[in-house]
Amino acid sequence: MKKRIALIPGDGIGPEIVDGAVKVLDALCDKFNHEFEYITVDAGGVAIDKYGEPLPKESLEKCLGSDSILLGAVGGKKWDTLPANLRPERALLALRKELNLFANIRPAVLKKQLNSASPLKNSVIGDGLDIVVVRELTGGIYFGDRKRESETAYDTERYSVAEIKRIAKVAFETARLRKRHVTSVDKANILASSQLWRDVVSDLHKDYPDVELNHMYVDNAAMQLVTRPSQFDVIVTSNMFGDILSDLSSAIAGSIGMLPSASLGDNTRGMYEPIHGSAPDIAGMDIANPIATIVSAAMMLEMSFGMTKEAKAINNAIDAVLDAGYRTADIYSEGTTKTGTVKMANLIAKEILK
Ligand code: NAD
Repeated sequence: MKKRIALIPGDGIGPEIVDGAVKVLDALCDKFNHEFEYITVDAGGVAIDKYGEPLPKESLEKCLGSDSILLGAVGGKKWDTLPANLRPERALLALRKELNLFANIRPAVLKKQLNSASPLKNSVIGDGLDIVVVRELTGGIYFGDRKRESETAYDTERYSVAEIKRIAKVAFETARLRKRHVTSVDKANILASSQLWRDVVSDLHKDYPDVELNHMYVDNAAMQLVTRPSQFDVIVTSNMFGDILSDLSSAIAGSIGMLPSASLGDNTRGMYEPIHGSAPDIAGMDIANPIATIVSAAMMLEMSFGMTKEAKAINNAIDAVLDAGYRTADIYSEGTTKTGTVKMANLIAKEILK
């Protein structure tokens, strides 16, 4: 199958980790007889330096002309003093908006080999952790009316039935591929927008009788995530609650260098990226963990291209390399073998070809 992939290496460690993911995708092409055409796209700080803006028109057009997008990370100190509308992160917001990527999907998986990477006790983690947070990404309080006056300020949380329905559908469909359980998180004891959220999710649930649904207030959900995380399968929630809960679930899943994400819209084209940033403190040192980006590429294969067995091959290869004791610095522990970015990606690629 031939697919066109827009690669956005971005800034800091971005180019190193995207290179690693491409190595793994190339191995996969050899193994499964696929053809991927890569189109490198400038976005973020690197685009500001070249073109004076974080997402030049040409870059956006390349993304729109691709089957999917794989992003490293953007940003860095060099651009921190620019006005907000010219900062590297603007490229991400513009891409989400232009591609209508309303669903942010963040799996928080703690692999058994890395149990000690979680800040939670083993008795809480149990048999590991495997949660997916489905966050609404283009609505809610981050996009509502806001105003600041001298003595007061306000922000507005507004959701429509259509916006809630489409994100809830993503959650139910995701759950169908997993343990068939959705927890919808809101603050329906206080917020009108949450009451609508709860009603719409409950209503849509009638179309998914095979999936179990429960509702939880956001304050309780935060507490439950750190006290009994194993009760969760898929969590669906609004933009702001999802922002907070997805970071919380990532933190309990251990290293930031392991966790991927997907942002999806109405069609199969998505944007896939690690949850971490551009890590300028370790850029160019060959110590960044490429696994989050490699798992993001696996999500792209599965969710955008329907290549389930190929995605599985990547995840199995990562497990095999971890089982063999190889670790980048961020997940290193005594008795394991410290490995750089390039070598880690090579090991995973080699494992796929075995
Ligand atoms: P960060 O995620 O870049 O780094 C936080 C810490 O985690 C650092 O110590 C870093 O070395 C480490 N780390 C991150 N990724 C790693 C990896 N793959 N392997 C090993 N260690 C890793 O967050 P930050 O330092 O707050 O932000 C740095 C820059 O990234 C900022 O300019 C920020 O705006 C930007 N940022 C971009 C994105 C994105 O592109 N999606 C997301 C978050 C932050």
